Amino acid sequence: MILLNQSKLSRCQMLAATIRLSDAIHTFCHVQVLSSQFCIQSVTESDFPMSHVLNIAIIGAGLAGISAARSLASAGHAVTLFDKSRGSGGRLSSKRTDFGNFDMGAQYFTARDHGFRQELKGWLDAGYVEEWTPRVYQYDQSGLRRSTDDQQRFVGYPRMSAWSRALLEGLELISSTRIEKLQPQADGQWLLVDDQNQEYGAFDRVIVATPAPQAAPLLEPASQLAHAARQVEMLPGWTLALSFSEPLDTQVEACFVREGPLDWISRNSSKPGREQADTWVLQSTPGWAQMNLETDKADVSQGLLSAFAEVLGMDLPPAQFSHLHRWLYARPGQQCEWGALAAPELGLYACGDWCLGGRVENAWLSGQQAAKTLMSKH
Ligand SMILES: Cc1cc2nc3c(=O)[nH]c(=O)nc-3n(C[C@H](O)[C@H](O)[C@H](O)COP(=O)(O)OP(=O)(O)OC[C@H]3O[C@@H](n4cnc5c(N)ncnc54)[C@H](O)[C@@H]3O)c2cc1C
Repeated sequence: MILLNQSKLSRCQMLAATIRLSDAIHTFCHVQVLSSQFCIQSVTESDFPMSHVLNIAIIGAGLAGISAARSLASAGHAVTLFDKSRGSGGRLSSKRTDFGNFDMGAQYFTARDHGFRQELKGWLDAGYVEEWTPRVYQYDQSGLRRSTDDQQRFVGYPRMSAWSRALLEGLELISSTRIEKLQPQADGQWLLVDDQNQEYGAFDRVIVATPAPQAAPLLEPASQLAHAARQVEMLPGWTLALSFSEPLDTQVEACFVREGPLDWISRNSSKPGREQADTWVLQSTPGWAQMNLETDKADVSQGLLSAFAEVLGMDLPPAQFSHLHRWLYARPGQQCEWGALAAPELGLYACGDWCLGGRVENAWLSGQQAAKTLMSKH
């Protein structure tokens, strides 16, 4: 059993997590959370004096991958991020249009962990992030009413993806590159092979920071890690972005929906920096998305629009802009508390929201945990 540094954890005034090497197989590092609250600190060079610089590949430039990359790079390691998309940020994606910036993935984030709140201060000061204080409603069988929810919410400024892009500054990212295979070398290093058969590397360590179903095949060389990833189901979702030429006559700026196809509604234009037109983002429930995964897009849009009109209790004018997006892997279906996964003997690690719970903050913390575990094994 490896105990995290006690004095540091008590400084965080939170209960600790222990990292337990899974007894039977030494290749599987399992983070066991002993309390619902735990502290993962940002890792600095002084925490782990370096014996030599490692060449590290991170597959996935979502928040988890970026979080790990920043820790490792600030400790002096050579880090290269890979992402299959043209851009970065993964599910922190935003769509830029003539009608404004729409957040198509994460709508906002919360900050409960002490270490994460410390980071947040820096992001707020730098202007990448702002607080969002919408009028929050809820809708269920009893109808629409004001929510008592007083959660503090934060958003990337002036769009979600601007935050992840700012965090990537100074890091090396190879985009539009889908990594398909990790090839172990005789000397313990790794080659990465993409879907065009192009090779990258060699790397001393690899962190896989993709959603679980995409991580499982990459983690195959560490069968315990692949097995863990295969256990995690990721649920789908449909997102519809809308813009109206005249503001809709409603006080609603955010709404948790507990009835029908919708899960969440946000008045996108009520977020700071997105005030160009009256813009909205609707998100379906995972169950409705599952039933309509292959439904014609026009029918999906119509289904979500009808549900929206029902929640607001009004006839909607025609939208001047609409854009529909399908997420195959929107959120993990279960709440795991692994933190991150590791096969240190192989130099393979995995992180992502699926290792800690499907939220932005957890993706960040999972990346921190992967970096910390990697450096502690160095
Ligand atoms: C519609 C929606 C709404 C949400 N709303 C909220 C919210 O309001 N609040 C909140 O806290 N959370 C929300 N979430 C969840 C939040 O977005 C995620 O928890 C978080 O962004 C996950 O970050 P990640 O780095 O783990 O994964 P991702 O952001 O998915 O990043 C993984 C990256 O890996 C890349 N990738 C995958 N396979 C490969 C490969 N083979 N080779 C190279 N690259 C690859 C992908 O392109 C992606 O960029 C929402 C998610 C969705 C989809």
